[in-house]
Amino acid sequence: MRLHSLATVVLVSAFAAPAWPAAAPAAPDTSRVIDMHLHAFASDLRWEARVGNPVTGQKMVATDEAAHREASLAALRRNGVAKAMVSGEWDAVLRWKETASDLVIAGYSFDDPEKLDLAFLRREHAAGRLQALGEGGPQYEGIAPNDPRMEPIYALAEELDVPLALHLHPGPPGGAYIGFPKARPSLGDPLLLEDVLPRHPKLRLYIMHAGWPYLEELIALMWANPQIYVDVGVLDWTLTAAELERFLGGLVKAGMGRRIMFGSDQMVWPEAIDMAVAAIRSADYLTEEQKSDILYHNAARFLRLEPTVPVAPEGAMETLPR
Ligand SMILES: [Zn+2]
Repeated sequence: MRLHSLATVVLVSAFAAPAWPAAAPAAPDTSRVIDMHLHAFASDLRWEARVGNPVTGQKMVATDEAAHREASLAALRRNGVAKAMVSGEWDAVLRWKETASDLVIAGYSFDDPEKLDLAFLRREHAAGRLQALGEGGPQYEGIAPNDPRMEPIYALAEELDVPLALHLHPGPPGGAYIGFPKARPSLGDPLLLEDVLPRHPKLRLYIMHAGWPYLEELIALMWANPQIYVDVGVLDWTLTAAELERFLGGLVKAGMGRRIMFGSDQMVWPEAIDMAVAAIRSADYLTEEQKSDILYHNAARFLRLEPTVPVAPEGAMETLPR
């Protein structure tokens, strides 16, 4: 690359290899956690069918709303979780919020964006109940992230200045045969957001499941759009250890370690919270500082609980807040 001016040098230096902040905390603390991906249910067919843990086969520990909520909250507390983004059936989410108002960030779930009542969402936000939009799973409805039907929800998230959590993941194995006939893996390609993001520069988007398995595409999207974050929900307790290392380790190697947030996505298996936290805490390819960023600080910055730390070298142009 030829450099033609001082401005170019400054600009290019801002895009040089990401540097860790000089003033890193002395001893990274991996005991505190923010879980950006949890679900509440009022009822669930899997409870009726007593579906065991899909990884361990463990018998279901909770088969109704109250027992599931209590078991999930207990798992959060024993793992040091300070905040948890809970989405699912809205009434159930609000009951979680009532039970643990200090812990719960209430997210409004949707799959088909055309079924959303935007006036209702504005009212819920104004009343202080709605704190995030998502989990949004248009992929389950065969709707791509860049489908025009998604525009109103992107615009609303920007207007309300709330996080938007978008599911990008193939879903359960065989999903198209077990209740999600329109789900397609290719609709989870993170690059389908590349035209959306510049149209909505204030959007506080995080990609749930980090767009697995599209590692290269995700790196390209995150590089080009420094404001977006991801969570590793479901990956951290369902992928093989080797695949989690390839994907999560690959993201960190590419310099994205400060924009990856912990998520469990426990669904109807509260013990998945323990499995997910353990997978991060025991990852030998992450430093203690990277673990503490992923488990807590990255989400704390995304949620504006902690100030953003500049990443550009001193004196160089900062890009967008990260
Ligand atoms: Zn999901």
